[in-house]
Amino acid sequence: MKLFGHLPPEQERFILPPLALIETLDGQRRVGFIMRRVGPEYRELIAFMLNARCAAEQFRQGKTWAQYLKVARSIASAIVVLHGKGCAHSDIHFRNFLVDLDEGDAVMLEIDGVVVPGFLPPQVAGMMGFMAPEILTQGQRPSERTDRHSLAVLILHTLLFRNVMQPLIEYDNDPNKSEELVWGERALFSEHPQDHRHHPRNLGLPLYRRGALSYRMLTPALQRLTERALIEGLREPDKRPSAREWEEALAFAIDELWGCGQCGQHFPYPYWLHPPQRRTCPFCGERCRPPFPVVLELYEERQRGQFFLIDRRIVLGHGFRLFADMIEPHRKPPLTRGGERVVGHVEWDGRRGQYRLVNTEGGEWAACSPDQEERFTARNGESLPLVPGYLIHFGEGKRLAVVREERGSP
Ligand SMILES: [Zn+2]
Repeated sequence: MKLFGHLPPEQERFILPPLALIETLDGQRRVGFIMRRVGPEYRELIAFMLNARCAAEQFRQGKTWAQYLKVARSIASAIVVLHGKGCAHSDIHFRNFLVDLDEGDAVMLEIDGVVVPGFLPPQVAGMMGFMAPEILTQGQRPSERTDRHSLAVLILHTLLFRNVMQPLIEYDNDPNKSEELVWGERALFSEHPQDHRHHPRNLGLPLYRRGALSYRMLTPALQRLTERALIEGLREPDKRPSAREWEEALAFAIDELWGCGQCGQHFPYPYWLHPPQRRTCPFCGERCRPPFPVVLELYEERQRGQFFLIDRRIVLGHGFRLFADMIEPHRKPPLTRGGERVVGHVEWDGRRGQYRLVNTEGGEWAACSPDQEERFTARNGESLPLVPGYLIHFGEGKRLAVVREERGSP
């Protein structure tokens, strides 16, 4: 109770801290604790993402993948709070989070099972399928490092609707022994680049055509974290990314989404694939069609006059809005853009065949070509061309943006 007694509201929303201890219940001596009650719209995470069929059912009811992305971010945020207090959860899996899919909200359960090094020892080893392999192979006790493995598996399960460590072969005639081997000694990432033993046959095929989503549909930052967690860090826990790294990459991913013209689903726009004709919707397989969105790469001033690329990109198409948190330094996307200031929007100019960025903020914005030969300015209500290679200035003290060049075929 002391550990989680004074959390700020932006942290407390992700966990259910114990509020009081129980001595008696209905006149009988009982031991327990009281926690905040969550609304009836919250259900166990497993109900939404156990497999592709569960998710497809949600999509039929109008939910989108963007909501799953927000849920994954909330899960990471909950673990950030816990690890920030020096604790470990020890039992991260899809039954220990309650989720409101409409809001993209997740609340962590089982906080009574947390591990506090030197004070509260682990009471459970975790759930098969989510447990770090060293718990099974070396009898290691749950810790922040083993949590990092479970968190990666749970985040990817929430985004791809499958356990990415799921084995496809039995390793022993005794099913219990086989279970222990496949999640422990023989644990293997299903998309390991060299070892294809657990590689699903339908991997990378469109989800709506009985395919299995690949981690390669995720943003480059999330792909990299996946590789660190499940390839490099599988046997080397120190290499696993922290909950905070996941939280940040998941937060940024929300601004890299694109809508499919065919099925309406949202997915990270695969700007890293060349030529653009190779970019398809991972849900229905439809090709992305021109006009392709523009991608802004953001730079931030670290020392006076010195700007550095930050790992944040903004994918923009016709009608997309630019929010204050995108251009103001040291900010990341808020959990909801409901209260966020809109500073501009994008329009497609069919006559000139280019996107225009309309300034609705007030200050003067400028765009210049790489050779500085061409220069445009835009005040309130005016617009700038978004031409590949152009540098966009949003004014003193703000971030800079470069319109990403579209490289030809690799
Ligand atoms: Zn589609």
